[in-house]
Amino acid sequence: MGDCLFCKIADKKISAKLVHEDDQTLAFDDINPQAPVHTLVIPKRHVASVHELDTGDESLLGQILLSCTKVARLKGLGEAGYRLVTNIGKDGGQTVAHLHFHILGGRHMTWPPG
Ligand code: AMP
Ligand code: ZN
Repeated sequence: MGDCLFCKIADKKISAKLVHEDDQTLAFDDINPQAPVHTLVIPKRHVASVHELDTGDESLLGQILLSCTKVARLKGLGEAGYRLVTNIGKDGGQTVAHLHFHILGGRHMTWPPG
C-alpha cells in the first residue's frame, strides 16, 4: 500500500517513536496522545482493520495482542489498568486504514466512549 501512512512507518520511511518491535508487529507512540500513555500497535503487513482478518490470521492477531501486553508492561500500566481499543471503519472512528490497537493508560478512562 504505497500511500498508507502506517506502512511507511513500518518501512521506516516515516519516523515514529518506537516502543517495541518483533518480526510481525511494531509499536510506536501516538503523535496526538489522548492519555499520558498512548501507544499504537500495528502489524507490519498491511491489513485495513481487524474486520479484514480471516482464517489463517490467528497467529498474527495473537502476536498483535501479545505485543500490546508487552507495551503495557514496558509502560508500567499493568497494575492500574489501561484500555485497549481498535476502531473499525467510518462509524468506528477509524482515521488511518491500517489495523492498529490503541493502548491508552496513565489516567482513568470513562465509559461509554464518545
Ligand atoms: P484511528 O482514529 O483509530 O484510526 O487512530 C489513528 C491514530 O493515529 C490517531 O490517534 C492519530 O493521532 C495517530 N497518528 C496519525 N498519524 C500519526 C503518526 N505519523 N505517528 C503516530 N501516530 C499517528
Ligand atoms: Zn498500511
